[in-house]
Amino acid sequence: MPAVWYTLRHLVPWTGYPYVGQSVQCNLCGSRETVIIGRIDRRLKRLTSVCCSQCGLIRTDPMPTAEELASYYADSYRLDYQGAFGGQPPRFHVTRSLREARARAALLAPALRPGAQVLDFGSGSGEFIALVQEAGCEVVGIEPSRAYAAFARRRYGVTVIEDESQASFAPEYFDVITTHHVLEHLRDPVDALRRLARWLAPNGVLYVSVPHMAAEHKRPHERFHFGHTHGFVPETLNLAALCSGLEPDPRFCPEGTTVVYRKTNGPAPPTIAAPEIVARIIDLYSRQRLLPYVASGAWLWPVLRRNAKVLRDSVFLR
Ligand SMILES: [Zn+2]
Repeated sequence: MPAVWYTLRHLVPWTGYPYVGQSVQCNLCGSRETVIIGRIDRRLKRLTSVCCSQCGLIRTDPMPTAEELASYYADSYRLDYQGAFGGQPPRFHVTRSLREARARAALLAPALRPGAQVLDFGSGSGEFIALVQEAGCEVVGIEPSRAYAAFARRRYGVTVIEDESQASFAPEYFDVITTHHVLEHLRDPVDALRRLARWLAPNGVLYVSVPHMAAEHKRPHERFHFGHTHGFVPETLNLAALCSGLEPDPRFCPEGTTVVYRKTNGPAPPTIAAPEIVARIIDLYSRQRLLPYVASGAWLWPVLRRNAKVLRDSVFLR
């Protein structure tokens, strides 16, 4: 499908996305029981999102196949998601990414000693690894976008691997691993967490940040996006970590769905059920009344706000 037409089909409101998908079980607990919590996304496009009835993990249903996701990321994602024409990261993205990288580095400062081995899983345009490399750490990024990986190498002189299967890290190699707004894009986020845990040194720390699907300041449908195949609240993120041999590190204060984990020697939970979390998520999303919201025109405000942020970061911030 030509990329422009494919991308347009990702942008026109009140239509579905160009994919078929497949029915999958919950990535966290294996259940197939679900409750629909959303039928529309932040672009006011048709997209069905469900909450697992057993553990509360949120996912897109049907789940895009691996091929469909690959096609989306190859043809549309950066333009659709970040306004990246020609595959290059736009200036506002780099500015925002640098701001976030500074905050992440400040949070992890106690672990980022000179000589520490650091991996950024989903390193994007490379601002975080560039920053910690400057501070004397040994860094490597994994970033599947060829254009963004090339940008990071060219601008910052950092090492970035595009194909994770080419990464041959020894177990327990890294002192610090970070993954910022990446897990929500994956079909199998728990498996990714397990891989990262295997690469983590016994006393290492793993920083994970994902969007908070119960954050108060957003309307429910604004939390959904085609690129986000999974959604977490703090409790389900911690459950996914626990299943991967990780627990919150008490030296770092978690902030919503931004958490620093350490390895745990405890056994993985035999079964995962979180009825109170499920009830809370379903209650939150059932309060959405879409038609009055659309009729009121209130949806224009978040659109304007989002575009104003892009303008601000493009023109006024460097
Ligand atoms: Zn589940």
